[in-house]
Amino acid sequence: MPAPTGRQPKIVSYDPGTGEEIGRAPLCSSAEVKAAVERARSAQTAWAGLSFRERREVVLRARELLLDDSDEIAQLISRETGKPVAEALAMEIVPTLDAMHYFAHAAENLLRPQKIDIGQYGLMGRSSRIIFKPLGVIGLISPWNFPLATPAHEVVMALMAGNAVVLKPSELTPLIALKIGELFARAGLAGGLLEILTGDGSTGAALVEARVDKIMFTGSVATGKRVAEAAAKSLTPVVLELGGKDPMIVLEDADINNAARGAVWGAFANSGQACASVERCYVQESIADKFIERVIAETKVLKQGQGSDGAVDVGAMSNQRQLEIVSEHVDDAKQRGAKILAGGQPAQSLSGLFYEPTVLTNVDHRMTIMRDETFGPVLPVMTFKTEAEAIELANDSSYGLTASVWTRDIARGKRMAELINAGTVMVNEVVYTHGIAQTPWGGIKESGYGRTHGRMGLLELVNAQHVHVNRAPFFPDLWWFRYSPQGARLFHGLARRFTTGSLMQTSLLLPQIIRRLFERH
Ligand code: NAD
Repeated sequence: MPAPTGRQPKIVSYDPGTGEEIGRAPLCSSAEVKAAVERARSAQTAWAGLSFRERREVVLRARELLLDDSDEIAQLISRETGKPVAEALAMEIVPTLDAMHYFAHAAENLLRPQKIDIGQYGLMGRSSRIIFKPLGVIGLISPWNFPLATPAHEVVMALMAGNAVVLKPSELTPLIALKIGELFARAGLAGGLLEILTGDGSTGAALVEARVDKIMFTGSVATGKRVAEAAAKSLTPVVLELGGKDPMIVLEDADINNAARGAVWGAFANSGQACASVERCYVQESIADKFIERVIAETKVLKQGQGSDGAVDVGAMSNQRQLEIVSEHVDDAKQRGAKILAGGQPAQSLSGLFYEPTVLTNVDHRMTIMRDETFGPVLPVMTFKTEAEAIELANDSSYGLTASVWTRDIARGKRMAELINAGTVMVNEVVYTHGIAQTPWGGIKESGYGRTHGRMGLLELVNAQHVHVNRAPFFPDLWWFRYSPQGARLFHGLARRFTTGSLMQTSLLLPQIIRRLFERH
């Protein structure tokens, strides 16, 4: 962390539930970004030279410290985002601890060198292996909605893979990010290996220009496009984890009560501010009345209020702009004929940034609420008649992050899952797989590209280097100079026989191969 000077500009962190200032953090300049990347680069070589066991020890010490301080950190997350402490624990601290445990222990195995079967080239005394080398310095740019879990998961993956990390957190949640840095520093991570650069979009833009070895960006589609464009100038590779408009399909054979509870949690947890929140619900016509009735009943009993209150289910929205977007989407839907069955406005009895958990019907795909990411506690419900119609509706979106299918018939659920265009499709589940350290996370279409988490995510953070060895260095390859009519006849033979992969076929070329070897002697 660059030492803040007295005159350094600051960003202010507020509690969105009360409007109170919680603290301030430096607004890092591009010169500070450059210096942090340089520090990270010089610290990385020694770190990459350590064994997995040595890196694991640091990560596990940080994990112990997180566990020890989990109550205090959950309070801070709750204050900085407005979410209930229960959600800070269940949706941030638990998955972070799990990811720390998993990658600390599994990274070595996941990145073990791999021998590749190269078919008949192997018979020619050749062999191929892939070794996984750290990329160097990873730039992480993260949003405010899961200010611990999202960056910490990637910090751990990047460190275990032997990289240094420069993290630029959201300007709305700088204090949690500083906490992540502090935990690793207390765990003994050497200086420079985890640089936390608090700041706004300008700090993020400076990081993209700082020629790190990869940018892992999580945030909105609009910013993601700007990041990809800026990164392209230096060919800095980018992983983009962007927004979603995630559909939930409830089939007539679903467990209606559980599907309703899943829909309510999936739409309103984190005040609907999860990239994988249920943003659109499609229910089969024959069970629609019963399902909607259950959804309303489950919604009406939710308690909304300050995140620090242990009995609260739905907390504040994290910022004013997000609250306005939600209001705009709901108002547009109302004007176009949507029916509000619950909520439908900012919460009047609470003074912070609260929007009532809202359920709408009579919605259709011309409405913004069914097309753009709302990112708020809103559940629009539409009906369908056939499976084919449900799939068509689910796929009618510019996004493709997650989706879910609800049915008691698991085979049917799996078959439908394969027809939905999204990075993750859950059967009888919503939202939570971001918290599974072993599984890949990422989207298609405007939800981004590349993956984070799991082995696929870990592979984004390494250079998969192919090492090829010829153990018979005394013979020139058949295809080397000099060319001749006899050589050309052999190449025709290779085209016809060697490329079939059949040893039998290739052996028919042996006389020609021997002639070719002697031809050039
Ligand atoms: P955002 O795009 O406004 O900001 C994300 C980060 O980018 C912040 O740290 C911000 O300071 C930084 N930034 C802003 N301008 C930048 C620039 N020009 N160059 C580099 N960095 C810049 O997003 P947000 O409002 O913080 O987060 C909400 C969005 O994130 C939603 O769309 C949500 O769906 C998405 N999200 C996606 C995932 C996922 O895994 N796919 C997870 C969480 C959130």
